[in-house]
Amino acid sequence: MYLPQPDRDSAPWWERVAAGEFAVQECDSCGTSRFPPRAFCPRCRTEGWHWHEAEPEGTVESWIVSHQPFVPGRRDPYLVVMIRLAVVPECLVYGNWRGERPPAYGERVRGVYTEVEEGVTLLDWAPADAGNPHPHPLRRNPSH
Ligand SMILES: [Zn+2]
Repeated sequence: MYLPQPDRDSAPWWERVAAGEFAVQECDSCGTSRFPPRAFCPRCRTEGWHWHEAEPEGTVESWIVSHQPFVPGRRDPYLVVMIRLAVVPECLVYGNWRGERPPAYGERVRGVYTEVEEGVTLLDWAPADAGNPHPHPLRRNPSH
């Protein structure tokens, strides 16, 4: 099975996701939010940053249906979506689709934390209107 390979910059982000938290980096100097985690601000090249906790929300930009069994044991076909993050609109992120139906272009989605292995959690995506009784699973008092 293919699993995330956290590196120096992304390891703290994966730890947050495993704890059911979503955050992006925010530049200490110019305030630009960025994703995925990296060492420098893409706008001003400043190294200093802090976490900006946010709701894992976005809109569907595109998707593919994979008929190729890249992942052993995976039930095929499966659907991978490309999501435009609400908190960093210039950023596109990929994930498994957890909707009961195919996605629609531009529809609002929310992140779904899926533990695939001990200590390894993926951020998947589902329709924002899927009837989840807990649409905002994050704490309401974000700590930075
Ligand atoms: Zn900056």
